[in-house]
Amino acid sequence: MSSPATSSPATSPPAGSAAAVPRGRVDACPGALQTHTAADGELARVRVPGGLLTSAQLRVLAAAARDLGDGALELTSRGNLQLRGLAPEAAPELGRRLAAAGLLPSESHERVRNVLASALTGRSGGHLDVRPWVAAFDAGLCADPALAALPGRFLATLDDGRGDVTGLGGDVGLLALDPDTVALTLAGVDSGLRATPADAVDLALAATRAFLAERAAQGGTAWRLAELPDGPARVAARLPGPRAAPVPLPPAAVTGPVGAEVQADGRTALAGVVPLGRLTAAQADLLASLADEVQLTPWRSVVVPDLDEHRVDDAAVDLHRTGVVLDADSPWLRVTACAGRPGCARSLADVRADAATAVTSGALPAGGARQHWAGCERRCGRPRGDVVDVVATPAGYRVNCGRTPLPPTPR
Ligand code: SF4
Repeated sequence: MSSPATSSPATSPPAGSAAAVPRGRVDACPGALQTHTAADGELARVRVPGGLLTSAQLRVLAAAARDLGDGALELTSRGNLQLRGLAPEAAPELGRRLAAAGLLPSESHERVRNVLASALTGRSGGHLDVRPWVAAFDAGLCADPALAALPGRFLATLDDGRGDVTGLGGDVGLLALDPDTVALTLAGVDSGLRATPADAVDLALAATRAFLAERAAQGGTAWRLAELPDGPARVAARLPGPRAAPVPLPPAAVTGPVGAEVQADGRTALAGVVPLGRLTAAQADLLASLADEVQLTPWRSVVVPDLDEHRVDDAAVDLHRTGVVLDADSPWLRVTACAGRPGCARSLADVRADAATAVTSGALPAGGARQHWAGCERRCGRPRGDVVDVVATPAGYRVNCGRTPLPPTPR
């Protein structure tokens, strides 16, 4: 691969952001049971509400990746996991393993359990611990048969007040404004509706139902709340409860925590980035050996919490040895990539291998600015915010810096 050239910051709009266009079909997001056929085999997406996994669940996933898939787990921008390279007949076995591990509480709702929660919640920072919200929201979702009709792209964000996930494009969200007051956010804006922490999940579930009701009223098959004309206001109007003047919401966080973080209880959490989001089964087994619970983040990183002081250094060494990045200055924090070859038939390049080569050789384009490598113009998985696009073309990689893309450089 030749080094792409570049010159200025990116300003192009995020790919994949909600567009005010009617959807002509029901979404086909993959799930754990409803797999997607990719060029390298079946792809299964396992929803992990809040990114919260027990060590036992992580071991089950690692074994499934090793036994049934290509040996790795892909971290997604919604804190979920994907297995690739599955044989068509592997899906039932995967489903059995996931169900036994408590990772498939409802077959009918498995694709709609998209829930982001603040990283480190309940352990460090934030106004409150949103882990109980995660469990309650997920349980409420799965308990309502009507909510199985949600699109697989529907997203809930549960933010403990640190402002890390509110800006990440949730259709419905809760944001703790202080320890006693929670704001309901709708498609990235404050609805003005308020709840106590104890009532907040009920309000979020009511808003989720209201989205479906409003979608039906408009006679469409919208995948996201922002796609409905006047959607957030119309959904808010369907909901009872106290209201306040809307407040500005925090912007999308570019990265999550990286490195060691001292918890409120004096123990330490280690947060590490998984390069290009590809967590090998061996790395997953290591994570499972370090803590009883881990948290996946939307920044394709993992948090290993609750480490006693005497274990921190050894754990950090082990993680570093396997390629988990604990250095907040690492270029890996600024590079993402789509699946590319061989997983995607559309791809014009093995973008992950090329991106990895660029990182390790110090040849990242755009001066190492935050960038997303993609095998075609669709730019799947592009993060929100200002991101330089490095897109494969028949003539080489084209680097979009600003509104005018640079011509491709030969590969
Ligand atoms: S951006 Fe293109 S090449 Fe990459 S995964 Fe999406 S469709 Fe495939």
